[in-house]
Amino acid sequence: MSDQTTYPVPAAWAKRTRIDEAAAAKLYGRSLADPGTYWLEQARRLDWIKRPEIAGDWSFDKADFHIRWFADGKLNASANCVDRHARTHPDRVAIIWEPDDPAEPPRRYTYAQLRDEVCRFANVLKAAGAKKGDRVTLYLPMIPEAAFALLACARIGAIHSVVFAGFSPEALAGRIQDCDSSIVVTADEGRRGGKRVPLKANVDAAAAHAPSLKRVIVVKATGADVPMQAGRDDWYRDLAEGVPTTCTPEPMGAEDPLFILYTSGSTGKPKGVLHSTGGYLLWAAVTHELVFDYRPGQVYWCAADIGWVTGHSYIVYGPLANGATTLMYEGVPNWPDASRIWQVVDRHKVEILYTAPTALRALMKEGDGHVQATSRASLKLLGTVGEPINPEAWRWYHEIVGGGRCPIVDTWWQTETGGALISPLPGATPLKPGSATKPLPGVDPQIVDSEGIVQQGAASGNLVIARSWPGQMRTVWGDHQRFFETYFSTFPGKYTTGDGARRDEDGYYWITGRVDDVINVSGHRMGTAEVESALVLHPQVAEAAVVGMPHDVKGQGIYAYVTLNANETGDETLRKALKDWVRREIGPIATPDAIQFAPGLPKTRSGKIMRRILRKIAEGEVDALGDTSTLADPAVVDDLVANRVG
Ligand code: ATP
Ligand code: MG
Repeated sequence: MSDQTTYPVPAAWAKRTRIDEAAAAKLYGRSLADPGTYWLEQARRLDWIKRPEIAGDWSFDKADFHIRWFADGKLNASANCVDRHARTHPDRVAIIWEPDDPAEPPRRYTYAQLRDEVCRFANVLKAAGAKKGDRVTLYLPMIPEAAFALLACARIGAIHSVVFAGFSPEALAGRIQDCDSSIVVTADEGRRGGKRVPLKANVDAAAAHAPSLKRVIVVKATGADVPMQAGRDDWYRDLAEGVPTTCTPEPMGAEDPLFILYTSGSTGKPKGVLHSTGGYLLWAAVTHELVFDYRPGQVYWCAADIGWVTGHSYIVYGPLANGATTLMYEGVPNWPDASRIWQVVDRHKVEILYTAPTALRALMKEGDGHVQATSRASLKLLGTVGEPINPEAWRWYHEIVGGGRCPIVDTWWQTETGGALISPLPGATPLKPGSATKPLPGVDPQIVDSEGIVQQGAASGNLVIARSWPGQMRTVWGDHQRFFETYFSTFPGKYTTGDGARRDEDGYYWITGRVDDVINVSGHRMGTAEVESALVLHPQVAEAAVVGMPHDVKGQGIYAYVTLNANETGDETLRKALKDWVRREIGPIATPDAIQFAPGLPKTRSGKIMRRILRKIAEGEVDALGDTSTLADPAVVDDLVANRVG
């Protein structure tokens, strides 16, 4: 992009930081030079039942493929997230819960209360038959019980599989069956943006296609009248009555599974990503502290949903392992109006806010007034995750939301990686809008070309990770072969991320999009993110998605789907103006060949654009759209097909 402004570490941050730029470089160097010592040292931040003496033990080679971390150690994740803080700081607030409806009071749970709730929930699960290694499906709204349930599973060694509460009965059934889970924990209904989500009814519908399901535990959230099937369904409240609030945590091997979580499905059929207990928890804890420079007492808010890995690692496991005060929000960013997020920030004096570019773009579209009507004086640090953030949204977040004083940590990672791998450290890293900047300690990224040749210095190509890190996924549930084939066969000996990246002359990484989305125009390889960022920069454009389309002369042409700001209409004049605009911003090679004005884009439930569907439409293959089960709004697709250009 044309704007290459660097934002130095703000003076206030430079003064208070525990890790400055030199210290960060040293830490990073040490983590790679002597990973054994470094990781055993880091592991001390957890409470171990048996402290490990080995750190990493892994090989990405086909003949000897294995990944183990701290394999001789024993611990329990819930004891680490709850008990030890309840012992030392029983009255510290662990969870602040902000309800969907702002007229309702928030709730607070101290670490002592959290311990009681988690133990009670754990005992209920045990009584329902859940044992170590069993899979328990959680289909819950963003209520405190969701956090209790996660930690309760961890406490008894059951493997939780969270299914986002916005998913359909079919998607839920598929995930229950895939991991052969016999217990589902759900709620009568969920609430989001003033609307009710019929969760229990969805479970009933899913049960017809999920024969493994034997027990349904229902949390009363809204009090809706829902039918209960005798012998299968129970109210949590009834099961919890008189149940003790103590429960000895199950000693778990560090390599024992903690959870399964299905990926978003942006690129294909979701994969059941399996994470380990020790390595994952350590990764979540270390990165939460480093990336957010977390200090005890600060109110920290990750505005994701527990249904995504971001919610697992950065609402629950990372912050609670660090004894943090973590805010859980039940609702959506734009209800009752577009200032809700900022009102919640003010209400709870949030210091650290972590959200996604898709939410920022949606709020940005509503104008600055909603932000400026609030104070936001408590904010010190902002974070983003999920997609490359276009520089325009970055600057809006920085200037309008953060008043220019808060660094932005743009964290690149995946469900598969367990936690952030590439991210600025707020007190150490000068920022460049749109760049996730540099690898965190222990992360060894490389850029390789299509032959797997490692590129040095400034370069672009495939982003791979050359060595294992503790938070890495261990397998695809039920399909270890698929795990190896998907991630380790393309570039032997390395973890393939599937993302493309550019590394600049300062060693900063810029994620250019999915490798599959790279467009080859007359021999020039182009990431979709760059063209989209240019389009979004135009004052009339709210959002854009770019894909390749067959082109007789160029091989591939550029097909752009453009969502305009409210009250704008797309016509030929604007089409031409947008083409000229991109030509000026990037260069003639990036000029879109076709522009389709689209009121909505196909997105996953986590808000990511599904370019594979857009690619099929651009190619005219509207009958072969593939797996659309994770689409947020399938109706969007019909409109796109009907208004195809060309
Ligand atoms: P699936 O793997 O099923 O296709 P998905 O890749 O969308 O779905 P996630 O694990 O939720 O599932 O998303 C990880 C991807 O999100 C990354 O591979 C990357 O493409 C994108 N991503 C996440 N954070 C960032 C970021 N800060 N900058 C750029 N891209 C990001
Ligand atoms: Mg992915």
